[in-house]
Order: sequence, then C-alpha cells, then structure tokens
Amino acid sequence: MEYAARMTSTAKAKKKPPVLLRLISLLTPHKVRFALASLCLVFGSLVALAYPQVAKYAIDLGMNEGSVSALNDVLFWLVGIFAMHAVFVWFRHYLMSWLGIRAVADLRNLVFDRILLLPVSWFHDRRSGELVGRLAADVAIIEEVIGSQMSMAVRNVVQLLGGIILLFVVDWRLTLVMLAIIPPFSVGAVYFGAKLRKRSREVQDRLAEASGRVQEAIGAIETVQAFGRERDEARAYRQKVEEAFGSGVKLVQWRASFMASVSVLTYASLAVILLLGGRAVIEGRMSAGDLTAFLIYTGMVASAFATIAGLYGALNKAAGATERLYDVIDTEPAIADPETPVALPAGGGALCFENVVFRYDSRPDDPVLEGVSIDIAPGEVVALVGPSGAGKTTIASLVPRFYDVLSGSVRVEGIDVRELALSELRKALAIVAQEPVLFSGTIAENIAYSDPSLSKAEVEEAARLANAHDFIVGFPDGYATLVGERGVKLSGGQKQRIAIARALVADPRILILDEATSNLDSETEAVVQEALSSLMKSRTTLVIAHRLSTVRDADRICVVENGAVAAQGTHDELMKSSTTYRRLVEHQLVPKARVE
Ligand code: ATP
Repeated sequence: MEYAARMTSTAKAKKKPPVLLRLISLLTPHKVRFALASLCLVFGSLVALAYPQVAKYAIDLGMNEGSVSALNDVLFWLVGIFAMHAVFVWFRHYLMSWLGIRAVADLRNLVFDRILLLPVSWFHDRRSGELVGRLAADVAIIEEVIGSQMSMAVRNVVQLLGGIILLFVVDWRLTLVMLAIIPPFSVGAVYFGAKLRKRSREVQDRLAEASGRVQEAIGAIETVQAFGRERDEARAYRQKVEEAFGSGVKLVQWRASFMASVSVLTYASLAVILLLGGRAVIEGRMSAGDLTAFLIYTGMVASAFATIAGLYGALNKAAGATERLYDVIDTEPAIADPETPVALPAGGGALCFENVVFRYDSRPDDPVLEGVSIDIAPGEVVALVGPSGAGKTTIASLVPRFYDVLSGSVRVEGIDVRELALSELRKALAIVAQEPVLFSGTIAENIAYSDPSLSKAEVEEAARLANAHDFIVGFPDGYATLVGERGVKLSGGQKQRIAIARALVADPRILILDEATSNLDSETEAVVQEALSSLMKSRTTLVIAHRLSTVRDADRICVVENGAVAAQGTHDELMKSSTTYRRLVEHQLVPKARVE
C-alpha cells in the first residue's frame, strides 16, 4: 500500500487511460496473433456448446428409439466435435500464452528502461528489495491475466451467453426458473469479490515487505552477522511471512465460503430443474434428451458464471498491479534532457558553481547548500574539505546532475549543465567513488564499462596507468578474473585502482574523486595516489579530500562549512588564515600522527 501510494505520488498527475485498455495496448504490436487467438477462443467455446445437443440426440434418437445406427452417427459426430475442439484449444492455449509471455517481456523492458532514467532521489525514497520484489510480483500477476485469465473470461462469457440462448431454445419456461438464481448469485459474487480483493492486496503487501527485508539483510550480511542479529532478522522476516500467511488463510476462507455457496446454489437449482423437468418428461411435454441437454447447459452456465465471478477478483488484482507498474512507466524523470540541448563546446573542463542553493526533496526544510560559489579553471585540482555533513558530496553530485540546483547554476565550459544533453554532460565526467562498485563480470569488462568495444591492449594500458596491471596478472585468470557479487573479493585498494582504470578509459575532461577515508594502508595509498596522479594529469579535478597528501598537492582547497565555501586557498595559506581548516587538519582530515 505504502509502495503504491509513493509510486502514485511521483507519477505525473495527468489523465491516464483505464488500466485494462493499457493492458490490451500491450497486445497491439501482435494484432494478428491476438485476432487468431480470439477466433480460436470464440470458435472453441461455440463448439463446446454443441456437446449437450449431441447428448440430446444420443438419448432421443439412439436410446429412446433403440436405433443403433442413429447412436453410431451421433457418436461419430461427437468424435468429430472432440477433434475440432481439441484443435481450437491447442491454438487458443498456445497463442494466448504466447501473448501473455510476450506482453510481460515487453512490460519488464518498459519498466526497467524507465527505472534507469529516473533520478537518483527516486531510489532514495524506496527500499530496493521491496521495489524489485513488488515489480516481479506485479509482472507475474499480469502474465497470469493476459496468458490465461483474460481468455478464460472471454471463453466463459461466450459459454454463459450461448448457454442461456440455447436454454431458451430448449425450454424457455424452465430457463426463466433457472435464471431466478442469478440475482442472488450476482450479489454474492460482488460481496465476495470485494472481500477477496482486499485480502489479496494484504497478502501482496506483506510479501513485498518480507522480500524488502530479505534483500536488505542479504546486502548487509556482514553487518548482520557481526552484530549477531541473525535471530532478530529471522524473527522480523518470520513475522512478515506469518502476517502474509494469516492474510492468505483469511483469503482462502473467503474463497472457500464463496465456492461452497456457489456449489449449494448450483446443485439446488439443478434439483429444482430435475424436479420440474422430470415432471414435464413424465407428462410428455419434454423429451428425456431435452432435459439432459437442459441440465448440461445449466451446469455449463452455472460454472461459467462462477468462473467469471472468480475472475472478476483476479482482474481487479491485475488492475492494481498494472496501475503500479504504469505509475513507474509514466513517471517523468525530473532530471532529463532539455528540449533543445546546447552542444558542449570544446575545452579543457572549466567548471563553475555560482551561488548554488540546494536542499534535498526529502528534507525541504533542511538547507544543505546556501550559496556555494567555486570557479575551477581547466586542469585545476580543487579539494573540498569540511566537517562531516557540510555538503561536500552534495556539491560533487550536482555536476553530473544527480540532483538539480534550487537556484544559482553549475556550469561546464560556461554552459549551465541543465542546458546540456545528459549523455554529453556525463560523458565529459568520470567519478571515482569512495567505495567503488564493480559489476558482476570480468576485470576487463569492468574497466571497459564506459566503452565495451575497447581492445585488450587499451584496457591493459589503462590498468598499467592505474597501477592495477601487476595485481591483475597475478590472478590465475588475469583480466578474465570474475569480480563483483559472485567473483573474487578484491581489497579496497584493488577496487579503487580498477575504478581509476575505468575512469581513465572514459577519458573525461572533469574528474570527481571521493577519496577513500581510511581503508588503505600507507603503502597501498602511495600506489593508489600514483594511479590517481596519472588519472588527474591534464584534467580538471574536484576531489573530496580526506588525505593530507591530496590537499597539499591540490592547486586550491575550498573549506565547506554551513552550506557555503567559508575559505579558499592553498594548504599553507589556509593553515594561517582559517581556524576551521587548521582544526580539520589536526583532528579530522587525517590522523594527527601523520600531520607532522
Ligand atoms: P561526509 O564528509 O560525512 O561525507 P559531506 O560533507 O559529504 O559529509 P553530504 O553527504 O553532502 O555531506 O551531506 C550534506 C547534508 O545533506 C547532510 O546533512 C546530510 O544528512 C544531507 N543529505 C545527504 N544526502 C541526502 C539525501 N539523499 N537526502 C536527504 N538528505 C541528505
């Protein structure tokens, strides 16, 4: 529920077509198959309606009149109808299931395409596990609807309407009696339908919460184990699963009551028909074959009605799932290309923050940046330092437009980043994060992430410059060594060097570095520093600095405090002029022992 509400809130408030139409629109690229499937569906259902007629003739002509040849003829027809029905069923089933699987594959792609375009802030508002779990569940529900329930609904509607027409043909008086059960049936179906819908939504919500919990615990398994929280995590998970079980049981109870009521009503109506029809047969107003056909049609109509009532709940569930998925698909990325992007002029990577004011959407009353101005010349190395939470990471994340400024501007080569195409802007940048993330794949694939067409020699060249070549060739599989979630575990320094090689390959004009704080020993630090120096050569660099060596080497240091740049200058200048900087150097920037 929470998830649905949050998703809805981000979707643009524009008028949307009804969800069922949107589901059907998924089938428009496959019109021919859909038309064929529908034909098979309708014909198959019509053929099924012929069975009771065959039964009628078998009884009236074959049995009552004692004619073996008539019986043989009827049975011959019966086999023909069986065969025809089987052909229609095969095609209907195959085509409908094909459409279901295809539509769901298209839907998955649509959702993921859109998710990748959404701004970083969208992801901060959501628990990724819950999101992934919910999307998978929603897609599965829709597959079920398109692949089978929609065709079941149409089949049963044909059977219901055709059955009623044929009932009237056989005996209209008896039909009116039989139809008297429909109003109580409908009321019951609507009542039970609403209950079932509510319960099934509850089950879905509990399961989504449970899968969110699983993903979080697995992602942080080391922390969970280190703090000995396995039992607590298991208990929290079990609680959600048990809640889902409880809701599931209630759902089943309602469904069982519904099915039992349907069964009582159906058999009671059959008994009434048998009573009235039996009398009509005895009095010669009706043949035994007609009564048999009538009973079979009644059974067909009742079962069609019950199935449609059941499907009503399922279709509602699918409508909810579709709505949630389309809320994602319809979410207009708040950060997108301008209508007419300005081309990024050639240059050496001039970067300028002018009077930047910013706050996070999730905390609108909490000012983060309040007028930050930094002008960085091409090739200059500027270090950002400041107390924890001062806004250094935030300043850096405005350059690739992970967020947009509230007022003021961020300019690359003199052009406001909001006027550039996102792809062009981001191509001009590379980011080396404090804890770089490597994807599942080989080391070579990770290095060539920005351009998979790179040659082996180019990848190796970048790795050499990043001081990574030696340790990579030390692995038995060299560049083909698998890393990431299912590969070898790399040390912090190794990961950093691969990330530096990855940035080198991207050949950016502007480099954004978030220095690793303390996970490197001094020897590794020297190797990483050397790698960084080759990366920074002739590029503009904005570095969130945590090491004294970095600030000493920087052309300029900006001290960020209270959402603004409190002081700027070289290390020596700031040591004299800024008490904040002195304090930072002594207490936070690096351990005291290494300042001397
Ligand atoms: P550190 O040196 O500890 O990494 P920092 O100077 O890089 O800190 P930021 O990460 O930029 O600081 O954070 C600045 C402020 O913005 C902090 O008060 C932080 O709590 C807040 N903040 C950061 N990210 C978000 C976010 N996604 N949503 C809301 N507030 C955020």
